[in-house]
Amino acid sequence: MTKGIDPWEVFVCHVPANAQSPVYSGLPLRLPLKPDEIATVLDAKVTRYFETLSNGMYQPQFSAGGEVTIGVKDEPQACVDEALAQSSDRAHGVIVIADAEHNSTQPGGFGNPGGACAVPPCRASATRRSAYVGAADFSPDWGDQPPMDLIEHEIGHALGWPHSGYDESAAEPHRSALDVMGDSAAPRAVHPARRDAPDTLAINRLAAGWMPTSAVAVIPRSGSTVTLAPSNGSSGTRLAVIELHDHRFITVELLTATGFDDHLPGSGVAVHLIEGNDATRIQTPLVGEPPYDHLLTAGQTLTSHGWTITVGGGWGATLQPVAGRPTVTG
Ligand SMILES: [Zn+2]
Repeated sequence: MTKGIDPWEVFVCHVPANAQSPVYSGLPLRLPLKPDEIATVLDAKVTRYFETLSNGMYQPQFSAGGEVTIGVKDEPQACVDEALAQSSDRAHGVIVIADAEHNSTQPGGFGNPGGACAVPPCRASATRRSAYVGAADFSPDWGDQPPMDLIEHEIGHALGWPHSGYDESAAEPHRSALDVMGDSAAPRAVHPARRDAPDTLAINRLAAGWMPTSAVAVIPRSGSTVTLAPSNGSSGTRLAVIELHDHRFITVELLTATGFDDHLPGSGVAVHLIEGNDATRIQTPLVGEPPYDHLLTAGQTLTSHGWTITVGGGWGATLQPVAGRPTVTG
């Protein structure tokens, strides 16, 4: 469910004034949100965001679902459960916006890819595919320009994408500015008018089926040089992969400081350690320090996990095993 038209239904969740969940407690504001109005906003902005990321291969569509109400002792998941129960047979996912804000110590939302669906109709009520956010992004403070990045992040989870640059020991665990699945608000920190999340990584595009395997260069154990094309483009080598062992690999890709990545100080080569190969994989930036936005440019070298990665002119990248290191097999 990462390709083609993807029907989402939008629900507003009414949270009681005296809600006891630590997510909501002590916050009196309740916003008069309307599912149809939110669906109209998402259908313009979030749809365009994912159409761009997928090079036109994925078109989420948002329509009004309805309104649900949770009990005084309920947690946010109850909003999602109610919305799934009310969703129509046409919905492949529900997105739920609470009318209450979240306490600052709580996550802003969550997303769930739901169960596998091999055969249509893949109703959300059956797969439980969902995304949820609190009300903060629809506060009147934002006027008619609400931020979309958190919803884009949670839909990323619903597409099966894991976090990247996530450090649960940090006060704000989303550390990476390189990926919607990192710090989704990173662009706004640089350009206050930005409302969308950063672009995403080639590994996520590959997982979603938005990038053909022919765009991937698997580096032989003896090393090689590849000319990288922008990882969000539609031609050329968009991802180089070094296989390590124990289900770990290194990804090397060119991110350009344009479009949804216009918050980056400059274009450059990003390198990530990927551990695992499904939606629970861990994606760790290897270049620089949080927010990891200073990427490798011509003449720079990174040595990590037994490999050196040297960037040349024209975004040629030479990937070589460190001299003298025995080749790890198996
Ligand atoms: Zn997340």
